[in-house]
Amino acid sequence: ASGRRPLVAGNWKMNGLRGSIGELDAVIAAAGGLAPRLDLMVCPPATLVAAFAARAAGTPVAIGGQDCHAEVSGAFTGDVAAEMLADAGATAVIVGHSERRTYHRESDAEVRAKTLAAWRAGLLAIVCIGETKDERVAGRTLEVLGTQLAGSLPDGATAANLVVAYEPVWAIGTGLTPTVADVAEAHGFVRDRLVERFGAEGEGVRVLYGGSVKPSNAAELMAVANVDGALVGGASLKATDFLGIAGAY
Ligand code: PEP
Repeated sequence: ASGRRPLVAGNWKMNGLRGSIGELDAVIAAAGGLAPRLDLMVCPPATLVAAFAARAAGTPVAIGGQDCHAEVSGAFTGDVAAEMLADAGATAVIVGHSERRTYHRESDAEVRAKTLAAWRAGLLAIVCIGETKDERVAGRTLEVLGTQLAGSLPDGATAANLVVAYEPVWAIGTGLTPTVADVAEAHGFVRDRLVERFGAEGEGVRVLYGGSVKPSNAAELMAVANVDGALVGGASLKATDFLGIAGAY
């Protein structure tokens, strides 16, 4: 009804070896049947981006990175530039995931710089935001989301270069999910902020829900207004589960 095409993206995090490409093959095998209804993406660890992109070339499955550095190149040992991901065949990159914000202390300003780097390299940026349990209990969820959106999103966002992922930190990898009403409230708030700032383009930006999405709860979560797909962690490692989630559309 929204006119936004759903996106179901899998975040493999620090999981997967070359031998895991069979899971990608299974997703590719099912992609033809799903592609009329939604976009599919797999975000493997950086070591697998090139091999996965080569395998997925010419199929409806897009490959994304999980993080990028803000600079094009330089003395940043261990980091990966957005241009390197694009060169390896990625068409998207996740930035500002809560695990990056927590373990690597990434600030909104850094996430914003990484988003600009993604755009510079021609990548779709999937910008993650979300409140902690303490923030939710304190009734600060929308305030936190508003601050993260204002600080993490650069000017110039469009429906084609930005996806926002709402991922309550306390729901990631815990098996816990917010109520449908809470998801609707958060996504409605994000939509309002996007439209306020980016106008018609903000109306077209897809807002994904992430946090313990699995085949058994996907249909309920994906039916919520302003939920335009899912960012899937743990359940994306097995093609059958990932496809079960995508099948909710
Ligand atoms: C994530 O980390 O992006 C995520 C949604 O994880 P999980 O599905 O495992 O909760």
